[in-house]
Amino acid sequence: MLGDCPYCGDLLTSELRSVTCDNCGDGFHIQCAKDADEFSVEVNSRLLGSTSYTLDCPHCGDSWSMGFDPRG
Ligand SMILES: [Zn+2]
Ligand SMILES: [Zn+2]
Repeated sequence: MLGDCPYCGDLLTSELRSVTCDNCGDGFHIQCAKDADEFSVEVNSRLLGSTSYTLDCPHCGDSWSMGFDPRG
């Protein structure tokens, strides 16, 4: 479901990477959250060649894993 990014107010489109929190349902642009400094990511190196990233939701504080580097 596409909504508005709370940071820039634009629609969440595929032009910018965006994520939607499974817990609170809020979506936002990754870049906007980074710019707002409300973004933290942990890189979890597991097996060789397999890396997962943990992102904390700036709204509810829930964290979840993603399969791509959200900082990229
Ligand atoms: Zn945005
Ligand atoms: Zn959330």
